[in-house]
Amino acid sequence: MLYSFFVEPQGGGAQVDLRTDKIWHNGRFIPWDQAQIHVLSHVIHYGSAIFEGLRCYRTERGPAVFRLRDHLVRLLKSCHIYRMDPPHGLEELHDAMLELVRINQLQDSYLRPLVLRGFGSMGINPLKCPIETYLIAWRWGTYFGTEGLEEGIDAQVSSWNRLAPNTIPALAKGTGQYLNSQLIRMEATLNGYDEGIALSTDGTISEASGMNLFLVAGNTVYTPPPSASILLGVTRESAFTLLHDLGIPVVEQRLAREMLYTADEVFLTGTAAEITPVRSVDRIQVGSGTRGPITRQLQEEYFALTSGKRENDHGWLDYVYEGKV
Ligand code: PMP
Repeated sequence: MLYSFFVEPQGGGAQVDLRTDKIWHNGRFIPWDQAQIHVLSHVIHYGSAIFEGLRCYRTERGPAVFRLRDHLVRLLKSCHIYRMDPPHGLEELHDAMLELVRINQLQDSYLRPLVLRGFGSMGINPLKCPIETYLIAWRWGTYFGTEGLEEGIDAQVSSWNRLAPNTIPALAKGTGQYLNSQLIRMEATLNGYDEGIALSTDGTISEASGMNLFLVAGNTVYTPPPSASILLGVTRESAFTLLHDLGIPVVEQRLAREMLYTADEVFLTGTAAEITPVRSVDRIQVGSGTRGPITRQLQEEYFALTSGKRENDHGWLDYVYEGKV
């Protein structure tokens, strides 16, 4: 059987093989085929899981995981919001993640920690359901393809809003809320766009289906604040730091939809999308209609760090074999 998914749409439909040797489950590595759950598991019916997505990059010093600790901190905070703290601490998860890359002999790859409510009871109340932790990985490359990273993607403003405040906590990365992301993404794809940009319930810009949004106006970079129903992206925070290093001011504020059309540049940030320029929104050209100078500068800084070509001065790379060879 072929276990795969399509990277869409600009990735050219390349197939990714999701199979590896081992998956970590509740403290030990199990064969990939045995990482299965029962159909009555709480998570399947009520979306009760927390997850993370992070990348491991090939570098000259061997594979290195990008911002591992920050992603694990977000995982544990998300779990805490939903009263599902796993029995594994940060250090144990950190070491297990590095071992996951080693045991599966991975280089460029995507890592997926997952904490879920398992088989226990079928009521909505999850408190009687066991908490299961999985650490999963697969080989992976770029999300929008090289063309997307260089020339930009075409986006639409979604007819779906992001989650209203005080409904589902947007700052927690819970699987259930990705029903909203799926609606945004499906609509964009079926309408012929690469990505959808969702507004908050107050009509200001929130984020894309799985990425944070930035826009450039003059020499300043703007991005919506946490209260705009966004996930606090680790890449978003990396962009803040790198733009600060470049001396480019970043302002967090509510942003009107029409600023997307008048901006000099728009770009998306996320573990999957990395730093991806947006060249049009609703078929209206953004800026020069291709990657702008600030987006390019930011990409250069970001990729210099993720590839290990620039000194790891922010401590963002965990070299997987460091101290092991
Ligand atoms: N928003 C949403 C809804 C996401 O799913 C993601 C991807 N995790 C992001 C933003 C970007 O977050 P990060 O930079 O941590 O990958």
